[in-house]
Amino acid sequence: MFRDKWCGEMRDGHIGSEINVAGWVFRRRDHGGLIFVDLRDRSGIVQVVFSPDVSGEAHALAHDLRSEYVISVCGEVRRRPEGTENTDMPTGRVEIYASKLAVLNESAPLPFTLDEAAEASETLRLKYRYLDMRRPELQANFILRHKVAKSSRDYLDGEGFLEIETPMLTKSTPEGARDYLVPSRLNPGSFYALPQSPQIFKQILMVAGMERYFQIVKCFRDEDLRSDRQPEFTQIDVEMSFTDRDEIIGLTEGMICKAFRDALGVKVDSPFIRLTYKEAMERFGSDKPDMRFGLELVDMADLAKKSSFKVFLDALESGGRVKAILGKGMAGLSRKEVDMLTEDAKAFGAKGLAWIKVKGGFESPIAKFFPEEVLREMAARINAEDGDMILFVADTEGVVHNVLGRMRIDLAKKMDLIKEGFKFLWVTDFPLLEWDGEEKRYAAMHHPFTSPTDEGIAWMLQMTDDVFSARAESPELSALTAKAYDIVLNGYEVGGGSIRIHRKDIQRRMFSLLGISDEEANAKFGFLLDALQYGAPPHGGIALGLDRLIMLMAGAASIREVIAFPKTQKAFCMMSGAPSTVDQKQLRELYLKLNLPL
Ligand code: ASP
Repeated sequence: MFRDKWCGEMRDGHIGSEINVAGWVFRRRDHGGLIFVDLRDRSGIVQVVFSPDVSGEAHALAHDLRSEYVISVCGEVRRRPEGTENTDMPTGRVEIYASKLAVLNESAPLPFTLDEAAEASETLRLKYRYLDMRRPELQANFILRHKVAKSSRDYLDGEGFLEIETPMLTKSTPEGARDYLVPSRLNPGSFYALPQSPQIFKQILMVAGMERYFQIVKCFRDEDLRSDRQPEFTQIDVEMSFTDRDEIIGLTEGMICKAFRDALGVKVDSPFIRLTYKEAMERFGSDKPDMRFGLELVDMADLAKKSSFKVFLDALESGGRVKAILGKGMAGLSRKEVDMLTEDAKAFGAKGLAWIKVKGGFESPIAKFFPEEVLREMAARINAEDGDMILFVADTEGVVHNVLGRMRIDLAKKMDLIKEGFKFLWVTDFPLLEWDGEEKRYAAMHHPFTSPTDEGIAWMLQMTDDVFSARAESPELSALTAKAYDIVLNGYEVGGGSIRIHRKDIQRRMFSLLGISDEEANAKFGFLLDALQYGAPPHGGIALGLDRLIMLMAGAASIREVIAFPKTQKAFCMMSGAPSTVDQKQLRELYLKLNLPL
């Protein structure tokens, strides 16, 4: 028997008993007479003492132990002598006096010590991920991840959902990213796509009468990576029939509240706040605003019109916006600091940044363009007091919201306004479509299977084909709203879903609206269109990004800290070396020839 107890569970109650433990040598201190080893397993660390008085043999063997040797120890649990207890360790009141030691395996010297792993470069940590993962911090992340997955499974099971697997070798399901393709040996020249999501399959499961489906599932998207993205990631994917938005929102809140309770012991406030997309953009300049602080965007258009400041007037004249944000206590910023803020605004896409400092009076290069009472009104509207600074951006609506939305976050960090905690938010009523200026066509903002509102459907069905084939940005099409909703946590989108189109004629119209011809629609999504004609029930669903959720729950700096074997920004696995070249024989079998640029 290697062990009958875990290292981390040793307490006073074990004193006097003879136990077996196994694990890794974490630290070793050789005091000549006595040798101390901190023995670590997944549960924690316990101190083992090798004394020649207890076992000369074990003591002699212990001389040769090195970091990360794998050992098992048999010994007696004793109380530590007075004054040598370690209150920082849960096991710190006891120690094990070893009577037997077995060295189960040796370890080469480590490329980084586990104690200092946090300072090692991330690429080194990822190359030796199995060492990195021995650290308690990372282990805690995976325990948390397991608990959240289990809690969600239990919750959905309790609500009558069935976990059903959908294929990984499949046809493209568009979620707005590039596909990962897999060549088919048995069908030369044909490719499977790895699923960007199980979207179409879960809808077909509704047609199949499964009613309530879920899956904790890998999805694959070939896109440029950021710290909160990975080429393969995990979703808690949910779909249900005969439902509406509010039911899905209620169900999701229930699942999240339970997961936070079960995994973190945290009570999350519910129901979560809801904002429409329009409100979120107007007030926070973002469709995933961080609600842990205020600092809302304030419309100044009517007051700007009373000025003679050309930049503001021109922006308004050409249909743009003038909005402001408050820099609390920032009137004391130096010229250089203000220049830096302006550079930030420019980096976010603004042409410039206008500002007014409230300092007794109003101090600003643009103050002269404003009547005094207008300055006062602006200050009152944004609650600026003496010592504050008002920051303005004037541009198209898109630029104003984007720049101020991003500055809002930067300023909140600078001013230390972000409170601890978990602030959830639903963003609803998303636009159905997004104009793609490059491709000169509309794309689905969520995905092409999302239902427009009932009015939108009525409008779409009575529109003639030539409206749909017109490939120019149209106010009517831009105004269409979707039955789509996102869930946001602390400024991160952690999930999204929608009520789906369940009628074939509407789905066809949607495809034509997106510039997808009937032939293309049949080739790509014919199986869905087929299924929709055989009594498809109304249905809808949601998917939560598990990795991102766990990252936020764990307070981890990156999504990679909560994924066992993540990839780098270049989608490379430092440990296995994937992706890698393959030999000619494999390529020949797949009828592939490489055509690499020189
Ligand atoms: N398939 C969607 C996604 O992956 C989620 C959903 O609409 O249920 O984002």
